[in-house]
Amino acid sequence: MNLRIAPSLSRFLFLGMAVVAILAFAQIPEARRPTPPGNIDAYKELVDKTVSPERIAEFLRYLTAEPHVASSPRNDELAHYVRDRWKEFGLEEVGLSTYDVLLSFPKSITVELTAPRSLRLQIEEKAVPEDPDTKNPDVGIPYNAYSRSGDITAPLVYANGGNPQDYDLLEKHGIGVKGKIALVRYSFPYSYRGFKALTAEKRGLAGLLIYSDPKEDGEARGPVFPNGPWGPLSHIQRGGIPYDFIYPGDPLTPGRPSKPGERRLSSQEAETLPKIISVPISAENARPLLESLDGEAAPPDWQGALPITYRLSGSQTKVRMRVEMEDPVKTITNVIGVLRGTEHPDEIIVVGNHRDAWVYGGVDPSSGTACLLELARALGEAKRAGFRPRRTVILGNWDAEEFTLTGSTEWGEENAELLRKNLIAYINVDTAGAGRDFNVQGVPSLIPLLHEASKEVEDPVEGRPVYEVWKAGVAGRDGKKVEGKVDPIGSGSDHAVFLQHLGAPALDMSFVGPYGVYHSVYDNYFWMTHFGDPGLKYTAALAKIWAHLIIDLACRPILPLDYATYARELRTYVSDWAAKHDPGKQKAGRILDKLGKMEKAASTVRPFLFDLEKAGRIDQDDVKQINGLLISLERDFTDPQGLPRRPWYKHLVFGARYTYAVLLLPALTEASEAGDEPAVEAAIRDLENAVSAAAAKLEKIGALLTQQKRE
Ligand SMILES: [Zn+2]
Repeated sequence: MNLRIAPSLSRFLFLGMAVVAILAFAQIPEARRPTPPGNIDAYKELVDKTVSPERIAEFLRYLTAEPHVASSPRNDELAHYVRDRWKEFGLEEVGLSTYDVLLSFPKSITVELTAPRSLRLQIEEKAVPEDPDTKNPDVGIPYNAYSRSGDITAPLVYANGGNPQDYDLLEKHGIGVKGKIALVRYSFPYSYRGFKALTAEKRGLAGLLIYSDPKEDGEARGPVFPNGPWGPLSHIQRGGIPYDFIYPGDPLTPGRPSKPGERRLSSQEAETLPKIISVPISAENARPLLESLDGEAAPPDWQGALPITYRLSGSQTKVRMRVEMEDPVKTITNVIGVLRGTEHPDEIIVVGNHRDAWVYGGVDPSSGTACLLELARALGEAKRAGFRPRRTVILGNWDAEEFTLTGSTEWGEENAELLRKNLIAYINVDTAGAGRDFNVQGVPSLIPLLHEASKEVEDPVEGRPVYEVWKAGVAGRDGKKVEGKVDPIGSGSDHAVFLQHLGAPALDMSFVGPYGVYHSVYDNYFWMTHFGDPGLKYTAALAKIWAHLIIDLACRPILPLDYATYARELRTYVSDWAAKHDPGKQKAGRILDKLGKMEKAASTVRPFLFDLEKAGRIDQDDVKQINGLLISLERDFTDPQGLPRRPWYKHLVFGARYTYAVLLLPALTEASEAGDEPAVEAAIRDLENAVSAAAAKLEKIGALLTQQKRE
């Protein structure tokens, strides 16, 4: 055991890891060269020189060679592959962290039209000759994870996006939905499929069929696979439907790691398990069902792009759904690798991506996994050349994200105490290269750092910094230009536990573009190399941006977390809330007052964050104290009790609606929408206290910094 590790950290580093990791640990050479601040640029340059699109292509080919759903033999094999590569690259304490969690798989699924004529749907995606991967017999049955089993026959209704207002409209037209089967589409505005399931369950439907209309992601958008990036008529979007807006992770162990001996709920007790039958189908499958409806025509905005009239109901149409699922407890495997900090090993940065895919996962997640592997290789090369982070960097390759963000959530829950105290930031890459448009969601304290990193890395096609291309904007869906910006962050990927449960700053980034094959068999190597990122140049650019963020967070003397930007963004969120719920700003005024103080204090801190010379003059004990305060700042914006109806979610500023849309000021907004005055008052008070605490810490940091300036 190396004594230079703080006791709490050593406990953490060995948690849930294989014995081999301990053996590997003993071999780490004693001599380590700390990276002086002046060498940050050289560190980045070396990483940039190492990152190779060709190596990323090799990783991607291997990762996408076979389907690899969580807990499958192939996905376990890939865990060992990632582990072995990371050891080879020179990461430390590389090991596997496993959990036994409730997963969900189909035994058999049939959907039939039984009246007015009988037709059994072929729920499978067509093979295309150009792409042998589409012919693989191991692709498996498309399904919705955590659907209930059952055999039902019921009348069919068409319910547009399957959102509450859609069922309201049906009822307004005199069409009852209780006991029926709803055919709904993945539509804009987007709502998470689990929200569609919960909505159908609440409305008393017997079953749910979710299909992909060509208007959203198929031929109405442009050429389809294998001739273009959009989804062909037979593509099917698989996906989980758990109610993880209540809590993500293993449904049986909310808030606790799924380790042996841990208390488990029964399936009946688990609030996140749906009680409805749900099956995803293709547009090709949906067409005969829609054609069999003979009722009133659906409103114009409910009409999709199939060449038929979409109708609300049918006088005779009946559908039978037979779904046989099994919900086994299975072992899932995260891979963890470490670069231990030379000077402040107790201060931690975590970066991650998930490995499990619904099928091949060309974009989602294997482009991200290939990016993570290349990141590890580049950091390892730099280590060989003597560059090491001053703070500890942990890489996580998560498992079972597709089920309910399971692997990252369990790991975060297992290491909660340590991460709450020491985690500086979490940076996620789920999908890396699905196009050329840089896309980021994150907390405001990380925005200036991200701007820096995106100025330092070149857009591989435009030959200008990513930042410039991003700021220039792209054409949105409505043809209007959308300028580059960091959107507020919600849920939907592995950052959720770090941000919303543990209260650490988080960022999720990717390159995006036209992408119509999400969670289908066509999201594969062929798609990636023909449409998503031919030559893997954008995935390489993302690996560089990722590395620059890590190096800055791990090596700058003062942590580059900017609370001036945070305070400014928070002012916007509070003002937007007031515009809807507090027009006189009586209540909002109380928070805005305190935000003024926070902004002022943060603005004295800001000049020191990116100025290495200024930061280099500060006394070392003060630096440690300043960074400790900076780390604790985001935690001030959490409530240990959590949101009233979903205590797992603890953040006061960033949350997610049940639809997965970002929910700003979640406790306050939900209380206002429910008209619950005492809860509104409590949420205002929590925010006031959080802002005051942050302002006080920033004033303290400012005093420590300016006192240095005088000397
Ligand atoms: Zn993903």
